[in-house]
Amino acid sequence: MPDTALPPFTEAGQAGHWELTDRYGTKAVLAGDFLGLGSSHRPFHKHPFPPHAAKGQHCSTCRWMEIRIFQDRDGRYLVVQTGRSVVPQESDITTLGWAPDGPAVVSALATWSESGRASFTFVARRALETASEYDGKINAAYRAALQRVVT
Ligand SMILES: [Zn+2]
Repeated sequence: MPDTALPPFTEAGQAGHWELTDRYGTKAVLAGDFLGLGSSHRPFHKHPFPPHAAKGQHCSTCRWMEIRIFQDRDGRYLVVQTGRSVVPQESDITTLGWAPDGPAVVSALATWSESGRASFTFVARRALETASEYDGKINAAYRAALQRVVT
C-alpha cells in the first residue's frame, strides 16, 4: 500500500511509495525517492496563544509552507507544495507538479525577474539545498540558477 501522508524531513534521501492528492482531488502515485523538504514552520507563535492567528494574521506556527521534491524510478521529478494550517476550520492546500528534469524543478520553484534572473523563497532554497545533497542534476541546475541571481 502506498503512503498517503507527506514524509517528514528526517526521511529525506529515503526511498518509498506514495499516493499524494492535490487540492482538487487529483492523485499522483510515485515509487522512488524523497529528495528534500523546505519548510517555513516555526516552533513558537508570534501572538498570545490560544487562540490561533486570525485570517490574514501572519504566524508561521499557525500557517506555513512546505515544499517537497521527489523522483520516480523513470527519473521524473514531482514537486509538492503545501500550504499547511493548524487553524480550526482551515485545511492544508496541496499542489502537485511533475518536472522532466533538474532544470525544470528549479524553474518551477524560482521567481523570474524581467531581466531573466531567478530568485528563490527561503522555503524553495531549503528544498533545493536538501534535494541537491541526494541528486546531482538538481544540484547542477540549482547552482547554475544561483549564479544568475547575483549581480
Ligand atoms: Zn500562531
